[in-house]
Amino acid sequence: TCMDTADEAVRATCDDATTCKRFATSKGYWKDPHIQYFARSVGERKAPEINRGYYARVKGVNHLLDAFLRKSDCNCQVINLGAGLDTVFWRLKDENLLPQKIFEVDFPTVVARKIHNIKTKSPLSKHLIETHSTDSLILDTHSLDSDRYCIIGADLREISKLDEQLKRFHLNPDLPTVLLSECVLVYMTPSQSSNLVRWAAETFHTAMFINYEQVNMSDRFGQVMIENLQRRQCSLAGAELCHSLETQKERFVKTGWEHADALDMMTVYSMLPQEDVARMECLEFLDEKELLQQLLQHYSISWASKDKLNLGNSFSSS
Ligand code: SAM
Repeated sequence: TCMDTADEAVRATCDDATTCKRFATSKGYWKDPHIQYFARSVGERKAPEINRGYYARVKGVNHLLDAFLRKSDCNCQVINLGAGLDTVFWRLKDENLLPQKIFEVDFPTVVARKIHNIKTKSPLSKHLIETHSTDSLILDTHSLDSDRYCIIGADLREISKLDEQLKRFHLNPDLPTVLLSECVLVYMTPSQSSNLVRWAAETFHTAMFINYEQVNMSDRFGQVMIENLQRRQCSLAGAELCHSLETQKERFVKTGWEHADALDMMTVYSMLPQEDVARMECLEFLDEKELLQQLLQHYSISWASKDKLNLGNSFSSS
């Protein structure tokens, strides 16, 4: 059916993210020794502005996530919504920042591929085994559950099933919780993404939601971005409603979050540690500064918190 084709196209976006991240890390934009096990190859060359955009995305999201982990002494849990082939579990283990447990959710077919890679590649399974001490490891085709890392196949648009599955795998609503959605909400309708964000606000008393996605899509540049995705039958159901930074914040405030903030990626880029930005900018010559600016202005990080966990302030103090 038409719906299946659309969902299939959305599932394929996780390969784009992984291939771009692998290419940028192969050039030295940032380090990720585990991404090679999830991307089939380094792939074709990506333009420098794309690599810089991914750099800002990864550094910006990690900045907020790591601030939460440090503030809670890792006595918390992380839920990665639409995680795709993300390597956050391996990064946090290597950096000694592993929370009590990481939960990842994606469509069952994406999850099956991820679990297959973990099972068959020892540099991936090594971390899993090292962080697991009880005898209750579940590692089947569609789910993985260990002491510190859990992967669930579910549709984020079906909240009650999602809630039920997470609880079955021992999600603890009383623990401080970070929810992460990186290029995910944009593939849902505004009411579907609001429901997900509302569920999170109602489930946890102490939490932060970090969301990265397209913004300001109503201008010419944004329209071209939408058309490119539509050509691959991938509808940006959320973006067509013309999200601005204001409406990004509103989605959180209207669904029970106490504090919400949003920045476009041009602003985030200018706030990242400048020493590393200077190193990164030397990696590849960038001809079209304006193109980078335009690109960055069409992406944003928004975040929200509950219980006065105002960690977003760490952006301004950095
Ligand atoms: N967050 C990862 C990253 O940044 O590397 C992957 C991003 S990828 C662009 C979007 C991911 O969201 C895909 O893996 C897709 O399958 C997942 N996704 C989108 N809509 C979803 C839904 N309704 N239920 C579960 N997963 C979904």
